[in-house]
Amino acid sequence: MNFQDLKLNASLLKALDKQNYKTPTPIQQQAIPVVLGGRDLFGCAQTGTGKTAAFALPIVQRLSEQPRKAAAGRKPIRSLILTPTRELALQILENIQAYAGFTDLRSLAIVGGVSQKGQERALERGTDILIATPGRLIDLMNQKLVDLQHVQILVLDEADRMLDMGFIHDVKRIIAKMPAKRQTLFFSATMPPEIAKLVKSLLVNPVKVEVTPAASTAEKITQSVYMVEKSEKQALLKHLLADSSIESVLVFTRTKHGADRVVKDLTKFGVTAQAIHGNKSQNARQNALLNFKNGTTRVLVATDIAARGIDIDELSHVINFNLPNIPETYVHRIGRTGRAGLSGKAISFCETEERPYLKDIEKKIGKKITVVEVEPSLSL
Ligand code: AMP
Repeated sequence: MNFQDLKLNASLLKALDKQNYKTPTPIQQQAIPVVLGGRDLFGCAQTGTGKTAAFALPIVQRLSEQPRKAAAGRKPIRSLILTPTRELALQILENIQAYAGFTDLRSLAIVGGVSQKGQERALERGTDILIATPGRLIDLMNQKLVDLQHVQILVLDEADRMLDMGFIHDVKRIIAKMPAKRQTLFFSATMPPEIAKLVKSLLVNPVKVEVTPAASTAEKITQSVYMVEKSEKQALLKHLLADSSIESVLVFTRTKHGADRVVKDLTKFGVTAQAIHGNKSQNARQNALLNFKNGTTRVLVATDIAARGIDIDELSHVINFNLPNIPETYVHRIGRTGRAGLSGKAISFCETEERPYLKDIEKKIGKKITVVEVEPSLSL
């Protein structure tokens, strides 16, 4: 199957050609016809599956083929995309701008952590597609700077994570301000009971599309675990990084503090490293991401929330400095490597208190993770 078969129009096909996308991914094959047909959609998929294009391409097509009515002289917001993190919002914007490059659609992202002024000016000019994190959108709505009365297509991206991050009330308040008659596209990687409830209340007769659950992604990835004491982790990390064949590493820590400590220690050791977490300004986060993507820094240290959705091509290693207590998070983390058929390596450091987490993870992925013995010569 190719993108023509999905009935995408000439301007989108041109944009996809420019992006060098040849074949639609499974979620795109399933979701694009549903969204073009105007139906509500519940997509069970996570980052890395091509889900952004699965909703963005048909939205761009639908909006570009429809005459817009000017609202108070400016472009009315016809599609709203809510997403949990700033990084994800900016990434979605980048994708949509690429897909809509041969149309006259305007898109805009509004996120927290940066000054509101520029966003106010951009909103005044108007935008067809608005991508937002819930907190900043609520702020702007409270100041009457955003009008959602003309929204026809709503996307809730990574709904489970928005729930985890405590955005659910904001999301409900935002939805209350838009027309009830609209198309809703709902994406979530997991399906806890609260998500199921939300799906039921927000979607009308939805089509459900699901792509291979996360556990199968894990098959291409070589996974190993070191049983170590907490106090030994820094030394083990430095020992592993002494191997120069490890080119780009995403290290996950449980806390922001932990992330900063790892960066400090690695920097002292002569390894280029930067942290990305919620206490950093938006600029610092973007800068860290850019440096990592272009190879200036070898190690990016992140907490789960900050790393959610960040898209890095050709990442060779993921290191879990701490094991997560939620098995899905482990699968998510290691899915950052081994993308697009590349082989990847995921290495975990498991301290005594984390052993129950390891058990849960192994149950989730349906296999034992190879335990690597620390060499005796390595006095950690
Ligand atoms: P996502 O799951 O939306 O975060 O997308 C993951 C990555 O795959 C992004 O870098 C996209 O630009 C890329 N991508 C999405 N769809 C395709 C496709 N059909 N062919 C090649 N790359 C794609």
